[in-house]
Amino acid sequence: MVSAAPRLSSTILSYLKRDLLLREGHFEFRSGRHTNALLDRDLLLADPESASRMGYALAKEFFTNKVDTIATPSIWGAGLAQWIAYFLEPRAKVVHATPMKSGERRISENLHVMISGKRIVVVDNIIVSGETIDQFTGMIEDLGGEILRVGTLWDLADRHIHGYEVFGLLDELYPAWLPEECPFCARGDDDLEQIPY
Ligand SMILES: [Zn+2]
Repeated sequence: MVSAAPRLSSTILSYLKRDLLLREGHFEFRSGRHTNALLDRDLLLADPESASRMGYALAKEFFTNKVDTIATPSIWGAGLAQWIAYFLEPRAKVVHATPMKSGERRISENLHVMISGKRIVVVDNIIVSGETIDQFTGMIEDLGGEILRVGTLWDLADRHIHGYEVFGLLDELYPAWLPEECPFCARGDDDLEQIPY
């Protein structure tokens, strides 16, 4: 889908670069995908200025969705979700999952009321392999939530996860290639930086 306005304004992009939250290069993620950019997911949400800018850019995408709840599977996603919910009108609630020792996630029972029968947007900061979002959207469905959209700053996995199209702010500018599709590899750039996630 091609939209008239870019997902991420050039102003936001220039801030990201200025604040070193985004740097360009040649990167390989654990999923095997290659990119020519890296977003500093920790720093990004350490600064309310940049976090709120990103949150607003995503909220804009969901303005007309009549969202009750932003649901997120991760602590990084929770920081972003607060901003998105804040910028929606009326403001949405935020539900997050807590990791357990087993590695699974659970959603506290007193939050279920904000999921069952509610209009949900699922958000995470960065979608790397897609596994977390795949499991989490299943959890939300099992709890009776109606998932309207799935959104993220950057989707490095498939464009569709658990049957939902993923909206990623950085996806148009910085696609995540399979190694055999990577234009940097194709032109012989073997200075590949391994990313530990
Ligand atoms: Zn490559």
